[in-house]
Amino acid sequence: MIEKRDFYINGKWVAPSAAHDFKVIDPSTEDPCAVISLGSEADTNAAVAAAKAALPGWMATPVEDRIALVEKLVEAYAARSEDLAQAMSLEMGAPIDMARTQQSGAGTWHLKNFIRAARAFQFDRPLGDHAPNDRIIYEAVGVAALITPWNWPMNQITLKVGAAAIAGCTMVLKPSEQSPLNAMIFAELMDEAGFPPGVFNLVNGDGAGVGSQLSAHPDVDMVSFTGSTRAGTAISKNAAETLKKVHLELGGKGANVVFADADEKAVKRGVLHMMNNTGQSCNAPSRMLVQRPIYDQAVATAAEVANKVSVGPASQEGRHIGPVVNEVQWTKIQDLIQKGIDEGARLVAGGTGRPEGLNKGFYVRPTVFADANNQMTIAREEIFGPVLTMIPFDTEEEAVEIANDTPYGLTNYVQTQDGARANRMARVLRSGMVEMNGQSRSAGSPFGGMKQSGNGREGGVWGLEDFLEVKAVGGWASE
Ligand code: NAD
Repeated sequence: MIEKRDFYINGKWVAPSAAHDFKVIDPSTEDPCAVISLGSEADTNAAVAAAKAALPGWMATPVEDRIALVEKLVEAYAARSEDLAQAMSLEMGAPIDMARTQQSGAGTWHLKNFIRAARAFQFDRPLGDHAPNDRIIYEAVGVAALITPWNWPMNQITLKVGAAAIAGCTMVLKPSEQSPLNAMIFAELMDEAGFPPGVFNLVNGDGAGVGSQLSAHPDVDMVSFTGSTRAGTAISKNAAETLKKVHLELGGKGANVVFADADEKAVKRGVLHMMNNTGQSCNAPSRMLVQRPIYDQAVATAAEVANKVSVGPASQEGRHIGPVVNEVQWTKIQDLIQKGIDEGARLVAGGTGRPEGLNKGFYVRPTVFADANNQMTIAREEIFGPVLTMIPFDTEEEAVEIANDTPYGLTNYVQTQDGARANRMARVLRSGMVEMNGQSRSAGSPFGGMKQSGNGREGGVWGLEDFLEVKAVGGWASE
């Protein structure tokens, strides 16, 4: 059993102020795989104090030097990327090959994109030719609390830490207590890269403890949070007393609008995208809206594709999906599948219970519902499991109406070979991102949502800006 009880505070690994052991469960076996500590208020305060003390020095460090440390981090990260993949695979159930390429790979990608964006970003610039004595200076928001989920752990951590570090913020990371091991390796990498003590701190803990303490803390200037809409609301309320900046990346219920003229791989691609990471992605295309002329064929294809998705332990190499993260999620998904059946959707693949031959571990059957309508629970709630909901539509207007009829607004998808229609759809869909015909967004593109999917943007230049304040100076002397 791995034992990792310490926190990383002020450049050192320190024991928790009070013992509060927490077992990390391997979702592939349901057995404990590690013990960590949940922090208490004294640990939170120590980490925030270290970040506060380090802030003036870090803000005064030239941005080129901050970028150079992030470059060192990229090197350190590459050298330990197998360890990161193994940790994520163990604690959150990502199949090992997928953990290597997608989960661990995401970190390098984001850090490199931040370096590129920062090099092109003018942190200090004139207001404009009309005002030669006005200056705009971008400077760090201050001490940032970074609260991250378990589903794409390194993706989320690097999106926050990379941007905060380059912006000149000091930080306290509280990773999900469900997946703390990868974050603790990441803290070792920050140490190895040579970030000054106090710039980066890590305290493990749960939402009710360290998470709430950080979001209410008077010395924390900003909370950057990725996770559920429920916790996002709690954090916003908690942060209101000190009026700190709150950056939220929350859940989603993306529509994937498949028009009758979609390319022949569109349905298969949509199903596989839904099943990736065992459906545990906030941007999953979880509602497939299919135009009536191809609807029956699409349902048959989706069922066939889902039936071929194999499920297995995270340690097994190859292409399959792993378990979902924990028992709470497993039970929630089972209840939602049952609700889909009870509310009258047609189950065409999967269903409740574990896949055949897997009696232990939080495994879910790849599931497809057809003939759903957008008022059913499976079309409204984020299931966060390998469950696809299919809804037929007739006209483009109807598709837009259904797609936008959700409290969420993270990513929507469009499949059509009519370019003008695709672009029209991109304009009217109410979401932070739209991806068409299987083309994902490129390096430096901002990730984030509208409505109850949150208010922040992560990645590239927009990700940097979220950790920066804009200072307007009048009477700037020409130098
Ligand atoms: P969660 O909200 O339960 O937990 C996320 C993090 O917040 C954890 O570190 C947790 O300890 C902490 N937390 C929980 N309650 C808190 C509180 N009251 N105060 C402060 N911190 C609190 O979410 P999860 O189950 O870990 O992750 C899944 C959710 O995250 C899904 O809803 C998913 O859609 C969302 N998500 C969103 C994005 C995005 O960028 N939009 C990305 C990944 C995941």
